[in-house]
Amino acid sequence: MVIVPKPDALTRPYWDAARAGRLVAQRCNVCSRIWHPPLPSCPACGAQSIVWIPLSGNGVIYSHTIIHHAAHAAVADRTPYLVALVTLDEGPRLVSNILDCPMRAVRIGMRVAVTFQEIAPDIFLPQFRPLEAGVRS
Ligand code: ZN
Repeated sequence: MVIVPKPDALTRPYWDAARAGRLVAQRCNVCSRIWHPPLPSCPACGAQSIVWIPLSGNGVIYSHTIIHHAAHAAVADRTPYLVALVTLDEGPRLVSNILDCPMRAVRIGMRVAVTFQEIAPDIFLPQFRPLEAGVRS
C-alpha cells in the first residue's frame, strides 16, 4: 500500500514540475524567502505575491531517523525504513526517503541529489540519493 499525494490548487505546480523531472519551490516576490511545503502566503512577511522557482535538486542530509514501528497501516509492511530531513542548497528542508543507499551508510552532512519515482499514475515523488560515488548500494 502506498500513500499517494493528492495535488490541489496550492500544490499542483509542485507535482506538475515533479512529473516533468524538476524540483520547484515558492519564493516571495517581496522578501525573496524560499520555502517548502507550499503555502498561500509568505511565512516570513505574509505577502501573497509568490512565484514558483526551479531548484538545483541538490542538498545535504540535515537529520535522519529509522522508523521501526509504523505509525500508519500504509507503511506497516515497509519497516524498518529511513526518513531523512534534507536541506536544499536554496534553503528549504524536505522530509524524504534516501534511495540507492543502505540505511547504515546514511550520514548527517551527506550530499544528496533529487530523483523522481513514479509512485502512482502521473504522481512522481521527489526523493534523494547520495551524490558521492561508493555509498550507493
Ligand atoms: Zn516574504
